[in-house]
Amino acid sequence: MAKMKAAVVNPNAKHGVEVTEKEIRPLRYNEALVEVEYCGVCHTDLHVAAGDYGDKTGVVLGHEGIGIVKEVADGVKALKVGDRVSIAWLFQSCGSCEYCNTGRETLCRSVLNAGYTADGGMATHCIVDADYAVKVPEGLDPAQASSITCAGVTTYKGIKVAGVRPGQWIAVYGAGGLGNLGVQYAKKVFGAHVIAVDVNDEKLAFAKESGADLVVNPNKEDAAEFIKKHTNGGAHAAVVTAVSKAAFNSAVDCVRAGGRVVAIGLPPESMDLSIPRVVLDGIEVVGSLVGTRKDLEEAFQFGAEGLVVPKVQLRTLDEAPAIFDEMHHGKITGRMVIDMKQGGSGCCGACGGGGH
Ligand SMILES: [Zn+2]
Ligand SMILES: [Zn+2]
Repeated sequence: MAKMKAAVVNPNAKHGVEVTEKEIRPLRYNEALVEVEYCGVCHTDLHVAAGDYGDKTGVVLGHEGIGIVKEVADGVKALKVGDRVSIAWLFQSCGSCEYCNTGRETLCRSVLNAGYTADGGMATHCIVDADYAVKVPEGLDPAQASSITCAGVTTYKGIKVAGVRPGQWIAVYGAGGLGNLGVQYAKKVFGAHVIAVDVNDEKLAFAKESGADLVVNPNKEDAAEFIKKHTNGGAHAAVVTAVSKAAFNSAVDCVRAGGRVVAIGLPPESMDLSIPRVVLDGIEVVGSLVGTRKDLEEAFQFGAEGLVVPKVQLRTLDEAPAIFDEMHHGKITGRMVIDMKQGGSGCCGACGGGGH
């Protein structure tokens, strides 16, 4: 049986991740074998490996995979050999429940998630359900596509849910990997005016470069007050990618009457929600979870058109434990993407993998 190299959950390894060999099982009906080119590393991977969401020993991590279809099983109609496709958090849903039938497949109660409840893309190979692997359009760099597969589609969908119209104001809380893409989608795709909020000035500078009209650091001044002052009464919407309760509370304060707050970040806490604020000002607070296959197709297309450009840094699969360690210690600023073809030391995206 053929073998693959993979970053697998092992509770005995440091941060719960180990790079090892694993057998590639035979394909079942409607499955495809993907040779992975790139897989981004997300904070969720760190939580899965650490056992925060239950014991996942032996599972291959990764839900930001991009690769080429090498083989298709009986029944496959959606893909053919040679197609470039994604391996996303939405790995498979039941296809027949209330949510699947109403365009809300990410809420399916019997969903499978790549790198969590199904073997994911942080490996040289991955077996996918052909109906759930989304094709990557021509013209989109596959390493950048890997970032859109999770961070990109999550923020794209969040801004869609925010319902912001061209010329309106949207506040993006958190200007990290997700937030920066959020700024780009809000500005370049939705035509909104964007305010980025972050406690890190470097991230704010990058948000400004990426299209934010205004930036504010809540460690230096009250973000909600700043936003109300500069938007004639408050933002029309806010999207919260920050993993911080304070950010959620500020987001509720920063929107104008009738505004909508979209929750994307996942701090394990409750937010303060004033009932008079909700009732008297007609505020809406709504959660948004990754995106559907259609959302991902759209998010990819805007990337292919050059409207949204994820900043990625290429690393090797052998470096997976080191990347997890850096993430654990908060040392990562950009988006780390594992290049499955690269055997040697890591290199940045800017030099095309040629090394420095
Ligand atoms: Zn993710
Ligand atoms: Zn379902």
